[in-house]
Amino acid sequence: MNIHEYQGKEILRKYGVTVPNGKVAFNVDEAVEAAKELGSAVCVVKAQIHAGGRGKAGGVKVAKGLDEVRTYANEILGKTLITHQTGPEGKEVKRLLIEEGCDIKKEYYVGIVVDRATDRVVMMASEEGGTEIEEVAANSPEKIFYETIDPVVGLTGFQARRLAFHINIPKELIGKAAKFMIGLYNAFVDNDCSIAEINPLVVTGDGNVMALDAKLNFDDNALFKHKDILEYRDLDEEDPKEIEASKYDLSYVALDGNIGCMVNGAGLAMSTMDIIKHYGGDPANFLDVGGGATAEKVTEAFKIILSDEHVKGIFVNIFGGIMKCDVIATGVVQAAKEVGLKVPLVVRLEGTNVELGKKILNESGIEIVAADSMADGAQKIVELVR
Ligand code: ADP
Ligand code: MG
Repeated sequence: MNIHEYQGKEILRKYGVTVPNGKVAFNVDEAVEAAKELGSAVCVVKAQIHAGGRGKAGGVKVAKGLDEVRTYANEILGKTLITHQTGPEGKEVKRLLIEEGCDIKKEYYVGIVVDRATDRVVMMASEEGGTEIEEVAANSPEKIFYETIDPVVGLTGFQARRLAFHINIPKELIGKAAKFMIGLYNAFVDNDCSIAEINPLVVTGDGNVMALDAKLNFDDNALFKHKDILEYRDLDEEDPKEIEASKYDLSYVALDGNIGCMVNGAGLAMSTMDIIKHYGGDPANFLDVGGGATAEKVTEAFKIILSDEHVKGIFVNIFGGIMKCDVIATGVVQAAKEVGLKVPLVVRLEGTNVELGKKILNESGIEIVAADSMADGAQKIVELVR
């Protein structure tokens, strides 16, 4: 799960990570009111969307005085920001963060990720802050420094100081930077984050080290432990199809292609996407209906696929192990009848009750292209959507 910058900063504050004073605003009047309360000569009006790159897209504006706050709030609220992280359709801005303007001396980068290669949490830092870290990694990888963290000991003061030293934080601020990094690490671990990224971390004119941006992502599987974090969920920022899917406990991820996939088992779902790609098609989604799905669940899954206007064809690829083929067939028929199927449907069934499943499909009156194998099914659906 993803949260907004202002929410991330609320969390960081609790861990002793310095952030500028700021307030969230949902409309222009609230924005001006927030700036008045902050009382600083310079305010920054920041679009709150679940994507980075807002600055470049015009979503971060420095305002001198309340009139400018009003102007910028007016301009940014309701605007659709297109950044390298939003996709071409962009994201509509519905919230603003009104924040104290900060006297930036230099921008740095600090991030924390889980490194699969070492099975450890890794903190990385660079003096190339403010720009996309992907670019730094590609063009000057020697400017990124890493510390692998032992889970028993946590990020040690020594490691934090070494990172701060490597990225050329001014000597007199190494202590503050180390405290910042340890606070960030503690926030990451306590809240079961999957990503924490501060870009930029800044050194200020008056000798402070603070987070000007904050991106925190959380491990969905640990959210049951963090009711307070769940409160931060903003459904406006999520794909409505994914929200619907989560209600029915379906693993669904929307993608850019036009072939809807309904599959059971994450491994089979992945290989189904692969084989569609292999034959030159593009999957519209990842969907795992799970092992013990009911006909109702399958119906909902099918409806979600059909609600995607990009879907030009559907490939149902089921191996009936725990899941029975007749249950899938019943769900597919039910959904196709309820929603009205207007795109080609290819079905490949194998496993428990496969004959019964095929019979249900054959007798349903729905136009279905049967496939003998996964490869056959993939080729057929790719042909049909062409
Ligand atoms: P994004 O990464 O989405 O572009 P940031 O929060 O990193 O958004 O803001 C972009 C840039 O705007 C920062 O690199 C920084 O230079 C400037 N900025 C952001 N917040 C402030 C602030 N409170 N005071 C001064 N400058 C800021
Ligand atoms: Mg940033």
